[in-house]
Amino acid sequence: MTSVARCPACARPARSRDRFCGACGTAIAPTPGAEPLVCTDCGAIVEDEDDQFCTHCGARFEA
Ligand SMILES: [Zn+2]
Ligand SMILES: [Zn+2]
Repeated sequence: MTSVARCPACARPARSRDRFCGACGTAIAPTPGAEPLVCTDCGAIVEDEDDQFCTHCGARFEA
């Protein structure tokens, strides 16, 4: 089951971490159960779940 967050105003699909629609700026409710990924080293929010390394400090993420 995939739950893709969508903008409530223009229905543009949003990435799971998007807080606001990239097309119209409407606030998007966070997907329930979607915990933000954070770097265990520096605490930076990981924008892309597929990233293997922190884009902020370079720490490697453990699987
Ligand atoms: Zn929108
Ligand atoms: Zn980091």
